[in-house]
Amino acid sequence: MATNGINMENESLMSQLKRYNEVFWINNSLQPFQMLKDELPIAEEKISDAEKRLTRFSKYFIQEFSETRSNGGIIDSELTFIPNMQSHMEDRYNSKINGKLFIKQDNNLAVAGSIKARGGIYEVLKYAEHLALENGLITKDSDYSELSLQKSKDFFSQYTIQVGSTGNLGLSIGIMSAKIGFKVIVHMSNDAKQWKKDLLRSKGVKVIEYDSDYSFAVENGRKLSENDPKSHFVDDENSEDLFLGYSVAANRLKVQLERQNININQETPLIVYLPCGVGGGPGGIAYGLKITFGDNVHMFFAEPTHSPCMLLGLATKLHDKISVKDIGLDNKTIADGLAVGKPSSFVGKTVEPIISGIYTIEDEKLFNFLRDIKDTENIKLEPSACAGFSGPLFLSSNKAAKEYISLHDLEKYIDNAIQIVWATGGKLIPEKDYISYYNMKK
Ligand SMILES: *Cc1c(COP(=O)(O)O)cnc(C)c1O
Repeated sequence: MATNGINMENESLMSQLKRYNEVFWINNSLQPFQMLKDELPIAEEKISDAEKRLTRFSKYFIQEFSETRSNGGIIDSELTFIPNMQSHMEDRYNSKINGKLFIKQDNNLAVAGSIKARGGIYEVLKYAEHLALENGLITKDSDYSELSLQKSKDFFSQYTIQVGSTGNLGLSIGIMSAKIGFKVIVHMSNDAKQWKKDLLRSKGVKVIEYDSDYSFAVENGRKLSENDPKSHFVDDENSEDLFLGYSVAANRLKVQLERQNININQETPLIVYLPCGVGGGPGGIAYGLKITFGDNVHMFFAEPTHSPCMLLGLATKLHDKISVKDIGLDNKTIADGLAVGKPSSFVGKTVEPIISGIYTIEDEKLFNFLRDIKDTENIKLEPSACAGFSGPLFLSSNKAAKEYISLHDLEKYIDNAIQIVWATGGKLIPEKDYISYYNMKK
């Protein structure tokens, strides 16, 4: 058991975590952007490169997924102001919410219905483009809708994509890869919901089920893929491509804010709450946001009290060398997208200087938020996607949050803040499963 990273300072944090108590942790390793921007670990050009690649595929998406037509073949989500939820939360929790509360609706993303439609799909496209260019199917100037021709699909069918998943990553990789024509194998952990496996199988995806957690499913998938030269493994723990696919969200968000006449600056800070599993999704988005908004953005990750893996990894600096099981936690949560026991160390090290903190949330609260956002704004979310809502409540009431605000000279401007709860999934949940979440007893 790896516990050498647990020092005195961490002792009370650890005892809270071990008791499944909610915590709000401020990251003391946060650096001013000035100190980071000349030595970014992943170059900014790679993000714009990813954005261009997605644009090259837009005609393909218009051709293959009619739901992307209205957005010109680009997969992105609405940014929605939620004043009814804001005032409801203020009443219910007898607590102020600073500034204006928005929700970023990745719950509605085309094709995969979750945040994984960003990273997962991007990685599949990048691999497909690489193969297609190398084998002369297209050039970078081609109309990529050619890739929907049967001869392209036949070509791609020689190759296999594999991925380990708690559910949503498997859905996004599976749906996308099957459409391109790849063979697909999804290695599912025991958290994965039955409907996700059924949906994938209906699209011709091979689903292998494991009676163990996410890390094991990934490890086994990686091993099987390595034995096959025509197989590509989407490695949620280490993939820079996944990370880049997520990071593209940042520039697009800036444009969306500007369209609503919002300019982020010192007087109008941006505060973002991102649900975190292994880290790639929130990490990639946070990385892009930091490059786009510098010190005017403040980002907090949200994790279930049963699976606080990124918090544990960062607070001990042990990253993937420590699991929530090492401190006696069971890693069992209704938030299946966040049911991860060990974080990505690649992501942990990359976000260490850029995120403001991490907090944890009880499953029971996820259900309350799930119901409230439906009742007040008619938005359908899955439990994982609700983890961001307690962030704005912590911000205005927690002692460590108040210290953070004062340390960063935010008192004067906090009531101008634009607060964004990043809602990460929900659209594809079958009605029957959704109703059972909605009716879950308090
Ligand atoms: C995967 C997922 C997350 C977190 O993303 P990670 O890359 O695992 O950190 C959050 N919410 C939902 C609904 C997800 O599917």
